[in-house]
Amino acid sequence: MKILIVEDEHLIANAIKKGLEQEHYVIDVAYDGLEGFDLASSGDYDLILLDLMLPNMNGLEICRQLRNEKNQVPILILTAKSQLEDKINGLNCGADDYLTKPFAFEELLARIRALTRRPQSTTTDSLSVGDLS
Ligand code: CA
Repeated sequence: MKILIVEDEHLIANAIKKGLEQEHYVIDVAYDGLEGFDLASSGDYDLILLDLMLPNMNGLEICRQLRNEKNQVPILILTAKSQLEDKINGLNCGADDYLTKPFAFEELLARIRALTRRPQSTTTDSLSVGDLS
């Protein structure tokens, strides 16, 4: 399972990276919005952890661009912005989930697990068992 962290605050990014590596995730970090967008566009990741306030390209813009490019990677927004409006904006831009800082690492882990077990697209073949499909 490969996760990209896009977060310009090195302390936070590195703490999350360390914690997730202990859970056996493979982690890349981008400390800049544009770099984060480029990496996320590569399609190499199972999940993107995305900060909103980033240098060069903000998180909402990254989210919107990825979805415009039909990139369906699960996106979890991690941000200090906790206003209802910010959450709604984030989700409307195509994010799958939203966690406000400060957060409990256990909650982050649980949300990552929930997002990565959802099917990534609806175009997968259906599975039939008996009368169910
Ligand atoms: Ca930031």
